Amino acid sequence: MQQRVFFLLLFTFACYTSFGWGFYAHREINYHAAFLLPPAMLSFYKPNIDFIAEHAVDPDKRRYAVSEEGCRHYIDLNRYGAYPFDALPRQWNEAVEKFGEDSIKAHGIVPWWVGSMLHRLTVAFRNKNYPAILRLSAEIGHYIADAHVPLHAHSNYNGQQTGQHGIHGLWESRIPELLAAGNFNYFIGKARYISSPEAYIWKVVLESAAAADTVLLHEKQLTYKIPPDQKYAYENRSGLITRQYSAYFTTLYNASMNNMVERRMRESIFATASFWYTAWVNAGQPVLDRGMVSFSGEEMDELNTLDREWKETGDKPAVRCPDQDVF
Ligand SMILES: [Zn+2]
Repeated sequence: MQQRVFFLLLFTFACYTSFGWGFYAHREINYHAAFLLPPAMLSFYKPNIDFIAEHAVDPDKRRYAVSEEGCRHYIDLNRYGAYPFDALPRQWNEAVEKFGEDSIKAHGIVPWWVGSMLHRLTVAFRNKNYPAILRLSAEIGHYIADAHVPLHAHSNYNGQQTGQHGIHGLWESRIPELLAAGNFNYFIGKARYISSPEAYIWKVVLESAAAADTVLLHEKQLTYKIPPDQKYAYENRSGLITRQYSAYFTTLYNASMNNMVERRMRESIFATASFWYTAWVNAGQPVLDRGMVSFSGEEMDELNTLDREWKETGDKPAVRCPDQDVF
């Protein structure tokens, strides 16, 4: 019996249940974005930076509890023909009219959702609603970062169609967790005003879609070259022996893509800061408080409930929107 349990543990693949950057990368992106802001904003974001970083992962936690949440994190652009996917109208109303809301949602809505979050953040700035500014800043950073992930713009999001199961976590979690600290360059410059946020976020998802083939192909090519006992390694993670992509394979894979992960992470940081800045400018550049924001009891309850419910899900995978093959 003991032997069987050990056997099972041995073949438990390291579990990355988030779809999007892993929790580590999401926190890093929001954290570093704050330092791209002008002084008038940084004086508010800096005292609250722990909140901004920690709550970068709330949208992924919510995927377990709210069924509509899943489709806000991706868009399977390859469902709409070939690049640049002109069959898909960029305007929400036109897209819904052409394909129907259920179908559009099933294939993901991240660029439209970023637009909706930007509007809400702008209103929060205008009203100087500090708790809302913090929560919406943290969350829009999540969706913007997800839009930069190539496998968030492709229906083969976890290599499930090509025998590359696990590639999602390899790209978005394993590489940053293993290689970002001390290696990735986060010197990025300053946030910029975005005059057309819609055009900007569509450009981002199109870049992601264009890179998805490279992400899949390079893993496949490397897998042919590297024997399985060197591709994977067994590591002790919180007391569990788990099968994991080896550091050797991960490093080679990252280099083979010409450091694409670092590049997309840097672009996520820049875009996040620039969307925050744009919302603030569009709200009339309100003078912001400089202290730590205190949340009401009700708001704290809501945040704590989200965290508790997520912890209770254990290793249950996060859900996407129901897959509907309509084309
Ligand atoms: Zn996500």
